[in-house]
Amino acid sequence: MIHVVHHPTYVTETPARSTYRWGKNGAIRDLLSAEGDRIAWHAPEPAAIAALEAVHDPGYVAEVLAAAVPPLKERRIGFPVTDAVAARARVVPAGTLLAARLALVHGFAANTAGGSHHALADTGAGYCVFNDLAIAAAALAGEGMRIAVVDVDVHQGDGTAALLAGLPGVATYSIHAEKNFPARKARSTLDVPLADRVGDEAYLSTLADTLAPFLDAHAPDLVLYQAGVDPFAGDRLGRLAVTEDGLIRRERLVAALVQDRGIPLASTVGGGYGDDVMAIARRHVTAIMTLGEALR
Ligand SMILES: [Zn+2]
Repeated sequence: MIHVVHHPTYVTETPARSTYRWGKNGAIRDLLSAEGDRIAWHAPEPAAIAALEAVHDPGYVAEVLAAAVPPLKERRIGFPVTDAVAARARVVPAGTLLAARLALVHGFAANTAGGSHHALADTGAGYCVFNDLAIAAAALAGEGMRIAVVDVDVHQGDGTAALLAGLPGVATYSIHAEKNFPARKARSTLDVPLADRVGDEAYLSTLADTLAPFLDAHAPDLVLYQAGVDPFAGDRLGRLAVTEDGLIRRERLVAALVQDRGIPLASTVGGGYGDDVMAIARRHVTAIMTLGEALR
């Protein structure tokens, strides 16, 4: 059984003026549903406000929950924060935390949303409203756990790095295209910048050579894994040249690295951009199923 966290609010109507394609979460749900009884479904409750305020400024949390985010911040996010978007933003971090708790019991679990790694303390950014990775990491670190956030999205996990910097027991890793968004990078515990057009072999060997010592140095009790699929060669916002097979090999590699060390892993989705929403959803589901098969 592969433990999967999903909530109906993840699938929202596309707000007017949105440049973000919202159909992906429904497609991910449908593709996973087709796997039948291989999937054990779990649904989170909305996050407590205090959990959101552990990493975000209370003023920004209030703006989001009231669907009253100033236009300047909405432009930075990339879509208007409607009531539906606000409800979703409050549930997704709870989903990542629930996936983490399920992973601690079962070895692996996946949130079908999340990976909102650009969200900062007082504003969202880059299609991210609240930073579910930082919220979940802070909650678990507050219980005395050692957490590593491993971010393989093609964009740097700048928000996660900034929000978690200096938090005892927490380390952040980001492997990303150096010339991609965000223009101004934050400092993760370990950043691995890649040149444009890096392909499968260089990508996977760099990942293995840097992630293994990072895990050994930090020895986390749990890995929170942002499994963005935008390193894919055909991605509209990626700059790398990783194939679909390369993405599958990436998930097997990450699974082997954590399994060798006895570390449970909770995954979120992340970036994946282009006109073919179903193809992007399929890449996310392939990641979840590959990780789930490897970490049974
Ligand atoms: Zn991305």
